[in-house]
Amino acid sequence: MKFTVFATISLLITSSVARRCANVEVPEELRQEAARFRALSASSLRASITGADALRKSGGYNDPTTRTQKIKLYIHNVYINRTAEGGYIPNSDMEKQAKALNEHYAQTGIYFDLRRVTHTKNATWATCERDTPIEQDMKRTIRKGDYGDMNLYLRPLQGWLGWCTFPKDVVRGSDDYWKDGCDVLQSTVPGGTFFPYNEGKTSTHEIGHWLGLLHTFQGGCDEGDLIDDTPAEAIYTDGCPIGKDTCVGPAYPGVDPIHNFMDYSDDACLNQFTPGQTVRIYQTWDRYRAPWKSNSSYTGY
Ligand SMILES: [Zn+2]
Repeated sequence: MKFTVFATISLLITSSVARRCANVEVPEELRQEAARFRALSASSLRASITGADALRKSGGYNDPTTRTQKIKLYIHNVYINRTAEGGYIPNSDMEKQAKALNEHYAQTGIYFDLRRVTHTKNATWATCERDTPIEQDMKRTIRKGDYGDMNLYLRPLQGWLGWCTFPKDVVRGSDDYWKDGCDVLQSTVPGGTFFPYNEGKTSTHEIGHWLGLLHTFQGGCDEGDLIDDTPAEAIYTDGCPIGKDTCVGPAYPGVDPIHNFMDYSDDACLNQFTPGQTVRIYQTWDRYRAPWKSNSSYTGY
């Protein structure tokens, strides 16, 4: 009976709504920081188009075309029982997910260093909702590393493809500290069963939020995602409709960014982060996560 219910829910998700990421609302604090980052990077981003030398001399952040950052990655499979329907995936699937992340993030210079994979059989944890005491209990028990390390929980989420915590100022040991990380439906791994979201790009999208990126359609045509080089987009994309253009007129050049990892398109459609998103990743990294690392290069954005 459990399998039947799960299959029904999966069908509902596939047929009725697109990507179903739960990061719908952006915390006001992060939105304000994103707006500040946007103002800071506008002149530098223009410099990046005219020449890397000018960009480096402009200060404020490093050249996004040459900067790299290694991030420790811990992947946890939390499952109901040791079957595919019960949310179990083998180590090889988690390794494939890590490899896919590195292929997708190569254009940003971000590299995920897979340090450990874990398996935990716990039906209550496996299906728990976000922002609940059960989620706290799970993460306090199995989370690894610190606020600069990525914890990815692959588990049979109920009705969602995934969500992540956005970066914020946290105190070590607080609820927000422990909650930090990404929860993703385990069948979205490369080769998983959740077509058309089974090339591992849900984790790529969700980790984008962890790195400070908003949905490309977040604030509609005018506010957008507070990044200048992602074309304006009024509403999320379903499928891969080439030429989709929901913000028209001279103020909104370009068609919708349907190939951007931070839209909701099918996995096969997604392959891009823009230079502006790469700059934003490093701005956010330096502001929120690098200070947790001893080799912090935070220069006070
Ligand atoms: Zn999202």
